[in-house]
Formats: sequence, C-alpha cells, structure tokens
Amino acid sequence: MLNRRQVLATGISIVALAPCAAPVFASTDLRGQLVQGTLMRGRTQPDARVWLDGRQLNLTTNGDFVFGFGYDRTNPATLKIQRAGEAAEEQKITLAKRDYKIQRISGLPDKFVDPPASVLARIAQEDKLIGAARAIDTDEAWFAGEFDWPVKGPMTGVYGSQRILNGVPKRPHFGVDIAAGEGTPIHAPIGSIVAMAEPDLYFTGGTVILDHGRGVSSSYLHMSRLDVKVGDRLAKGDVIGAIGKTGRATGPHLCWRLNWFQERLDAALVVPHA
Ligand SMILES: [Zn+2]
Repeated sequence: MLNRRQVLATGISIVALAPCAAPVFASTDLRGQLVQGTLMRGRTQPDARVWLDGRQLNLTTNGDFVFGFGYDRTNPATLKIQRAGEAAEEQKITLAKRDYKIQRISGLPDKFVDPPASVLARIAQEDKLIGAARAIDTDEAWFAGEFDWPVKGPMTGVYGSQRILNGVPKRPHFGVDIAAGEGTPIHAPIGSIVAMAEPDLYFTGGTVILDHGRGVSSSYLHMSRLDVKVGDRLAKGDVIGAIGKTGRATGPHLCWRLNWFQERLDAALVVPHA
C-alpha cells in the first residue's frame, strides 16, 4: 500500500515511501522502496552470482549489486542469487503501482514540441551519446551510498507525470524538476565519474551524466554552465555546474534524472525528504 506522505511547497504531492524490501535471502541485504520507478540496492558475498529476470548482474568487488524498474513495471520480478557452493535461491519482487499526475505545459516554442525535420539527425545522434553514457557498467560502488539532493528548491515537476505540451500528449516526464535561480551551483549527489558533459543538446541544453557504478547514472539538464569534463572523478558535494534554462525549459530549473542502464527511475526515491 502507498500512503501520501508529503506535500511540497508547490502543492505537488509525492508518493510516500512504501515499506523497504524485507530481507529475502540469508546473508543478503536488499534496500529500496517496493514501488514502480525504484532503485534496489543489495549486497551479498563477492563470489556469489546474481540474476534479475534471468539477466546476470555484475557485482562490485565488495559484492554490491543494484537494479531498477521503470515507471510502468507491473509484473513481478525474479531475483536469483547463488552463493559459492550453495543451491540458488529465488525470490519474487512485487512492486506497488503508482498514480501519476498529468502536467500541462504551454507556451513552448513549437520547435521543441514538433522538431523540424532538419534537426532529427542531430537529435538521433544526441540520443546515441546519452544511451552510450547510460550503458557504462563501471566497477565502482558509489551507488551503494547515501544520495544528497544536487540542489535545493521547490519541486516543480515529478517523475512519471504524463506531459501535455502545447496541448499535445507526449511521453511521461522522468525527471525531478527543482526550481532555483540561474547560476545556482549544482552538486554531485554522491561519488561519481563524469560519463557525459555536453554544453548544448537540442532538448536538454547543457547536460551532464554522472556514472555512479554498475549501470547507475544520474543526469542534469538545462544547465547554464558546465564545470566538469568526461572522465573527471567527483566526490559527493563537488560542483558540476550551474542551474539554467537551456534547451526545452520555460524557466531556470534542474531536471534531475536517475537511471539503471536504460531504465528510467525516480531520483526522489533515493534522497532524504525534509
Ligand atoms: Zn524535467
């Protein structure tokens, strides 16, 4: 069951935190909210083998592993763990369904709602860059730590909401939008390595993708300034750039996104709520 827990200053309510995952396996710690859009983090013996829905996951050298589920996942998942010299254990993971909002945004330039044919090749090329950054499977365990908010401010957009742009239904919004003044510093929420740093993407303007290890990445959109480059290693709190309104944005804000490989997750589920 879900509870509505918190109403932010903007009047947008967020899905409250469902119960954490119960310990499902002996000697395996598994953490996360059992809801659509969740990031689940676990640890087992470093020489164990782990599969999610039949796909083998790479563990870190400490035995940390991670996986996530998209906004519309409904069927139960199967997690299988086999520790060295033991029989495999299997557990079903069932996620609570969420109610997503409808968000209407008007007044956007048409070129962002219906891009002209002349920019489609550029958009496809940028999608490739983004997909490649999110496909990286680095042997680092930053993802297993505690995330901080990259910037503080009113939340003006939530994960999963159906977007209607200038009256045209579009795919859901997968970010958490945080409003802040142009030039406000944006901080790395946890240790990372910079996987992509592009000053001018068509839809998202100044865009950074941080790799937190084992397929977990976070994205920072519409930035006015980038202070990092690909390959930089960052500690939690390091400044990566500044708030802006570049790309498809109606005002200065950060659109913050969380991924497990190509699965789009809800970043609001991994940070503390004030
Ligand atoms: Zn957004």
